[in-house]
Amino acid sequence: MGVSCSQHLISKEIRFMPRSLKKSNQQFRLASSSIPLGVTSNFRYWGEDKTIYVSHGKSARLWDLDDNEYIDYRLGYGPAILGYAHDEVDAAARAGMETGGVFALATEKEFTVAERISKMVPAAELVRFSNSGTEAVMAALRLARAHTGKECHVMVEGGYHGVFSEVLWGVDLDGWDPSQGEPVLGAESAGIPSVLKELVRIVPLNDANRVEDLFKQEGNKIAAFLIEPMMGNCCSITAEQSYLQDLRTLCDQYNVVLIIDEVKTGFRVARGGVQELMGVKADLCTFAKAVANGYPISVVAGREDIMRQVCDSVVHGGTYTAHSVALAAAEKTLEIIDTTSVLADIANYGNALQQGIGTMLNSRGIAHSFVGHPSMGGLFFDATPPTNYRDWVKTNYAFYESLAPVLHDHGVLVEPDSREPWFLSSAHDEICLSDTLERFERAVDITLEKTPPNNNKNVGH
Ligand code: PMP
Repeated sequence: MGVSCSQHLISKEIRFMPRSLKKSNQQFRLASSSIPLGVTSNFRYWGEDKTIYVSHGKSARLWDLDDNEYIDYRLGYGPAILGYAHDEVDAAARAGMETGGVFALATEKEFTVAERISKMVPAAELVRFSNSGTEAVMAALRLARAHTGKECHVMVEGGYHGVFSEVLWGVDLDGWDPSQGEPVLGAESAGIPSVLKELVRIVPLNDANRVEDLFKQEGNKIAAFLIEPMMGNCCSITAEQSYLQDLRTLCDQYNVVLIIDEVKTGFRVARGGVQELMGVKADLCTFAKAVANGYPISVVAGREDIMRQVCDSVVHGGTYTAHSVALAAAEKTLEIIDTTSVLADIANYGNALQQGIGTMLNSRGIAHSFVGHPSMGGLFFDATPPTNYRDWVKTNYAFYESLAPVLHDHGVLVEPDSREPWFLSSAHDEICLSDTLERFERAVDITLEKTPPNNNKNVGH
């Protein structure tokens, strides 16, 4: 699924022309009159004159209303693992339309897709479908509480698990000074009941002693430990294998349900997700983004005894669960991921991209490191890769944040926030690679004129 030659010629022509967002800006003003911030997810708002409105996407590229073409490394935060408008997946989705939508009744395909997931992910003994990552994590937490009879949950600093109130808690590192003690836990949105704070505990990644101390003190209250072992929302900072092993042991010891949130890593970093990559088995796990190449479906899966709580007393469901279109798209996407070399191809592209970027940065003496997996790699401007969220403040994220808009102007779309990894798809091809490296080099040189590369200070965010 590469871009055609003619598309490439277009991209060459427009490559270094100054970017106009005139139509996007107009659309922003129009949309803002009906839609708060002019967008339907807060993260899509990049500022009054920077918010992008998409015309369409194809393969690894998307085009905005002003006809600016971008090689996309956001991919909607990960879903389009096979590239946008993938012919086979879309054909399957169209066939799914013929089925008729949703019926508040089950269809056969639910079993075939569930069976494929259980085959790919050994921890997924039983499977239920939801619509979004948020819903899947909500279900997992409820199952964990029902199973253990306990109510609190632990999360990891820098993790993200969706937009529901129990998980929108975190430590605020903006302007945090490590010499002044622990960062403070707070709600990440207004409107979250303060009473929920009693349910939430938060620990830094890769410190098993902290977990042990917490479990010793409060293990009798803690139902679940919720973790992204490769933090897809914190530049792919990754758990050490020994940490995960300790975590597994501690969860068993204290009857805490280990929930591995694979909404970003699932069916991406390996067929069996981060669990396969790191040799760890969750009690419950959640999937969403890559499951159906962008069609809305998510998965909560796990140990039979925990999942069978729904046969007893746990409510799970929803009008749109297992919609025939999303399910058909999931069936095709997972078949492709399971039976072809796409994941290895994506990783190869990622390795080549990191190598090219690394060579270029080295030649300019710019300290940097990569973390995570090549298919969703984090780029840091510091020679020492971070091992937890607190380390991120020591990196020169100011340089990244100056570089990102310049990359946008050169037709390379990355998240403006340095905490988001670069997502790759099987549609990123050789042309994308050479174009990206060329544009990246230019963008770095332009950025260097404005921002010093190695001021690794906590300058506030
Ligand atoms: N968990 C993780 C790890 C995520 O990355 C996200 C979304 N970025 C979610 C949960 C929530 O998923 P959704 O946006 O589909 O509700």
